[in-house]
Amino acid sequence: MNRWVTDLLDWYKNVKRPLPWRETQEAYRVWISEIMLQQTRIEAVMGYYQRFMEAFPDVQALAQAPLEQVLKLWEGLGYYSRAKNLHKAAQEIVMRGSFPDQKEEIQKLPGIGDYTAGAIAAIAFGKEETAIDGNVMRVVSRIYALEDDILLPASRKKVKEILEGVYPSGEAGNFVQGLMELGELICIPKAPKCEICPVQEECKAKTEGRQSVLPVRIPKTKKKTEERIVLLVEEQGRILLTKRPEKMLLGGLWEYPNVLTADPARVPALTQEKYGMQLKIQEYVGEVEHVFTHVRWKMRVYKAQKKDAAGFAAARREYKWADEKQLKEEVMLPTAFKKIIG
Ligand code: SF4
Repeated sequence: MNRWVTDLLDWYKNVKRPLPWRETQEAYRVWISEIMLQQTRIEAVMGYYQRFMEAFPDVQALAQAPLEQVLKLWEGLGYYSRAKNLHKAAQEIVMRGSFPDQKEEIQKLPGIGDYTAGAIAAIAFGKEETAIDGNVMRVVSRIYALEDDILLPASRKKVKEILEGVYPSGEAGNFVQGLMELGELICIPKAPKCEICPVQEECKAKTEGRQSVLPVRIPKTKKKTEERIVLLVEEQGRILLTKRPEKMLLGGLWEYPNVLTADPARVPALTQEKYGMQLKIQEYVGEVEHVFTHVRWKMRVYKAQKKDAAGFAAARREYKWADEKQLKEEVMLPTAFKKIIG
């Protein structure tokens, strides 16, 4: 076995953190944890994972639950399409009778990409598959002192080939998790802890003193900014919410009415066009910003009211009124909008 791989495995077996999803290697648990951990820190995931497991202890329970309940338990984790896909995939798994154990089959489930499929196949089923995310790209780029831009698909392919070439037989779960653990705890992006690293003697970047310049990462173009006006319409202690269309970012979730403009004068016309209900601005409340993966929302918040006393008979979007309690306990409000009421 390759020396750095042996050192990594020995280290991982000794120091691995007792994370709740490591208590068993059941595919269902590995899957839920891997999806929750995408773009989210371990500390933030812990509570969510435990609550999720209490509500849905197995794939059948998740498949049978109403989507609203799944989304409610996801509230605050962001990237809600992950929760919707989990629900859909659970139903597919129940239909097929068992969790697939081959990477190619796992990857056909909604919301499961190459990394997650590899992680589940290796950890839950002991298959010799790789699971390559940003952490693993960084670790391998440093150990082998690779100069390739890690954002390019070709670099990922190269790292995959390297890992396949040194894959330790019968150690799939430990190898995949050991690499993740090394990337999360020791070989961190800034100031890697080389002096306590288990593979320091075999690491080319360390030998050459190039840890701080590797991996090579050429930044993508800047995020685009969208300016929005968000409207808080209150009536008898309740606030107006509208539902986002299914196919959009945050699709199917509730939000305060909002329009894509920075100009308050355009609000009546734009709300009429978008919602089929005319709203007009009363008073400025403040400004809130929310950053998604590809876009930044700059939101100017105003109190607003309906143009006339009539209801919204011709409303184009599903809407409802919610009081404070409903807003806190029942309604699925994305983080971008939760920030508005604090
Ligand atoms: S020696 Fe340093 S750069 Fe190399 S893998 Fe370990 S922490 Fe990363």
